[in-house]
Amino acid sequence: MNDQIFRAFNDQIREEFHSAWLYLSMSTWLENQNLQGFAHWMKVQATEEAKHAMKILEFVQDRGHQPLLQGIAEPPHQWKSALEVFEAALAHEKHITACFQKMMDQAHEAKDYAAIAFLNWFITEQVEEEKTTDEWVQKLRMVGESKGGLLQLDHQAAKRG
Ligand code: MG
Repeated sequence: MNDQIFRAFNDQIREEFHSAWLYLSMSTWLENQNLQGFAHWMKVQATEEAKHAMKILEFVQDRGHQPLLQGIAEPPHQWKSALEVFEAALAHEKHITACFQKMMDQAHEAKDYAAIAFLNWFITEQVEEEKTTDEWVQKLRMVGESKGGLLQLDHQAAKRG
């Protein structure tokens, strides 16, 4: 693993933990709004992100390096609505997709085939992440100001395993 790839992977460990931190913060806000279903969904999402971070950390170790853990920025604590939460989550996932695409470019440039093979999983995963988050954005836009509609979606979000 060359220096540039090593740095990029370390940065992505921080990005994934920041995602976990952001989604956990969103979960606490949603819980406070009595949207327990969405709060649950976001908490599960946060644990997924922590798993992504560990997966990258272990890959760096498997390649014979010591991962360098960096500071994680404080996430926002307040949102205006569940829709605003999911819009912010979607924008964040698009940022994460861009991070992986850049890493993939660097891996190709370095002819680092192990990194390319590893990153393929994340590239595919990001398609799913953007799709599911966008579905919530679309559904929340659909119900608009309807409290009944919002509670129905909240109930649906509670079913995430
Ligand atoms: Mg992730």
